[in-house]
Amino acid sequence: MGRIPTLADLGDVSGKRVLVRTDFNVPMEGEGDARVITDDFRIRAALPTINWLTERGAQVVTCSHLGRPKGQPNPKYSMDPVRARLAELAPGVELLENLRYDAGEEGNDPAFVAKLVDGIDMYVDDAFGACHRAHASIVGPPRTLPSAMGLLLQKEVEVLLGLRNEPKHPFVAVLGGSKISDKLGVVEALLRVVDSLVVGGAMCFTFLAAQGYGIGDSLWEPDQVDTCKRLLADAAAAGKAIHLPEDLVGTDASGNFATFGRSLPPGAKGFDIGPGSAAAFTDVIMDARTVFWNGPMGMFEDPRFEAGTRTVAQAMADTKAFTVVGGGDSAAALAQFRLDDEVDHVSTGGGASLELLELGDLPGLEALRGAPNA
Ligand code: ADP
Ligand code: MG
Repeated sequence: MGRIPTLADLGDVSGKRVLVRTDFNVPMEGEGDARVITDDFRIRAALPTINWLTERGAQVVTCSHLGRPKGQPNPKYSMDPVRARLAELAPGVELLENLRYDAGEEGNDPAFVAKLVDGIDMYVDDAFGACHRAHASIVGPPRTLPSAMGLLLQKEVEVLLGLRNEPKHPFVAVLGGSKISDKLGVVEALLRVVDSLVVGGAMCFTFLAAQGYGIGDSLWEPDQVDTCKRLLADAAAAGKAIHLPEDLVGTDASGNFATFGRSLPPGAKGFDIGPGSAAAFTDVIMDARTVFWNGPMGMFEDPRFEAGTRTVAQAMADTKAFTVVGGGDSAAALAQFRLDDEVDHVSTGGGASLELLELGDLPGLEALRGAPNA
């Protein structure tokens, strides 16, 4: 694989119009014009790259998607609140309208790419969270323009490819959350590089069902049971542990808060790992030298079910291991517990971080490697 050009490979940027693909898909509250940004982390995260360029005399034009307007202009998804915040943080920097107002963005339409690069001299990709998608603004501009990865993207690639290619052992992956089938592919890939796997969140129920435990009415994916059975067998054959919860917290058949062992009775729902599991998972994390965590251990948004996620987050903060957290909700949980500064790297991309760990490459990185200045 060739190398990915960095900002220095752009040469002289002075007086150049540089299109910077950012991930400004920020969380907001309210509707339409009354929308308020609840966390501007993603805008602030792009500032080092924006400032690097403007300090060297470039005129920066940023662009991003926001929500899912499905190819139609829709004021509900306008970039106005982001533009206002960006004007405060980086005065003079332009921001195009929501890329997904045009169906050509997700459709990777050459006509839309031509519109994007019109009047533009160079392209910088700093949108790690979108690099796993072959969309127009990600893969189009590097076909013709001198291009580079921004500082944020560069850090993500260094950290995540470092994990994948040369982790310090023991390497433990902690997985949870609710997007089970999305994440099972990465479990398979992770099993090749990790020494053990810790599984909590809704993800654990499909594994527990595969082992014959009762899971009540917990969230699970019946059509993934065979995959989980195979993963359990593969892990056992490779001498790698898959740690599953030994106790669970949730609601009983009447909807009341309840604690359970590993098996849930009919009608019960598991919403968090129990204290015994949280302690066992903590031990695994403390003994590791590298930990990658994706997906909360429970429905942490509900204070009754946050303890498991909080305990694992605290272990991530306390362990001497090199710690990396990926996933929007996992990052939000860390921030909620004020532990986001206590881990080594919080990835800005959920799906992208998993896909980079799984495949070792992303469409956006491949595109940059093919740029004329690469
Ligand atoms: P991330 O964004 O970190 O990748 P996911 O999007 O996969 O994580 O999952 C996060 C969601 O999973 C959270 O909203 C959380 O409430 C939910 N969740 C975790 N455990 C459970 C569970 N046992 N039952 C239902 N939902 C759960
Ligand atoms: Mg999520």
